[in-house]
Amino acid sequence: MTETLDTVPALANFQEEVRRWLASIVDPRPAPTPTDKPDLAVFRNLSDEDELDLLDAVRAYRRQRFDAGYGAVTLAAEHGGRGLPASFASAIAQAEREFDVPPSTELISVTTGLVGPAVAMFGTDEQRAHYANPLLRTDLLACQLFSEPGAGSDLAALSCRGVREGDDWIFNGQKVWSSGARFADLGMLLARTDPEAPKHKGITAFLIPLDAEGVDIRPIRQMSGGASFNEVFLQNVRVSDSMRLGAIGQGWKVASATLAFERTASGSVTRKKGGSVAELVALPNPWVLWTIPWYAKIWRTPTYARNCVPRPQIGSLVPLQPDARPARPRRWAN
Ligand SMILES: Cc1cc2nc3c(=O)[nH]c(=O)nc-3n(C[C@H](O)[C@H](O)[C@H](O)COP(=O)(O)OP(=O)(O)OC[C@H]3O[C@@H](n4cnc5c(N)ncnc54)[C@H](O)[C@@H]3O)c2cc1C
Repeated sequence: MTETLDTVPALANFQEEVRRWLASIVDPRPAPTPTDKPDLAVFRNLSDEDELDLLDAVRAYRRQRFDAGYGAVTLAAEHGGRGLPASFASAIAQAEREFDVPPSTELISVTTGLVGPAVAMFGTDEQRAHYANPLLRTDLLACQLFSEPGAGSDLAALSCRGVREGDDWIFNGQKVWSSGARFADLGMLLARTDPEAPKHKGITAFLIPLDAEGVDIRPIRQMSGGASFNEVFLQNVRVSDSMRLGAIGQGWKVASATLAFERTASGSVTRKKGGSVAELVALPNPWVLWTIPWYAKIWRTPTYARNCVPRPQIGSLVPLQPDARPARPRRWAN
């Protein structure tokens, strides 16, 4: 049942309840020591093996969180959530910062904050049963196949083609900047299904299995060493119409709602990407100051537009010294 004014718990009590639950499953976060260096990287530079270890750790925690009722608190009850205000998701994230929970990853955030809620909201009963809870619980992982080489800020210009053939669709095209695609089970795909319609109206959304024949995922190596992003090539990929999300031609509506979830996603913010301006200014390397205009732009920009602003890779400006990495008491530490 969605909480009403009478049933919404008091925020402070709720947060205390979350703290008690966290204390029952995980240790408190160790206090920072004077020798700790700020974590300024936007992207982690992990090997695939370490990324998988991190994903295992986060998924183990996220499953416990979902089962305890703290996984999708802002989603409407009819979509499998608790219908609580966004302040409750923030209260969970704040409490998590006090405990040694594994840091989230882009793929986990996309799965639980974007694709899971989108399937819960736009999926058929069957799609909800098969995919929504498994995504929200991270039993399945899904990446976002939206951006293309010719469709970034102008997403509606996308040209990945979807052609109906009987009960199936055949997809051909290329996606780019697909965070975590190498480790995902599914991709939420936007494809042009009607090239004659005005550009926002000719798009349809789908879930596609990434192990389907014709899907080729290639990592994009970042200058800092890691490869969080991927290019995803689709060549005659055949997917059943039962994987369509929403009505034909309604992909823009599905995509807009999905991106709006970012604002209220109950994703963990246990890792502060890119550090703070104060941490940047305190660095001995003056070159980092070139990033300040970027931060200024981010602060003036609405949430989704933030994703369209290329982020400076501060981590790459700080020389990678072996001792710059904290000791690794946890396998997923950077
Ligand atoms: C951390 C991160 C994770 C991402 N993960 C994913 C993902 O998982 N899946 C996915 O599909 N995409 C992902 N993206 C891509 C993202 O959502 C945008 O599509 C992409 O960053 C913007 O596209 P582009 O790089 O082609 O830039 P462009 O669209 O080419 O824009 C480049 C610059 O030009 C500016 N610009 C563009 N058009 C105009 C105009 N008309 N007037 C003035 N200025 C303009 C932009 O503001 C920007 O500064 C991710 C991006 C980031 C930063």
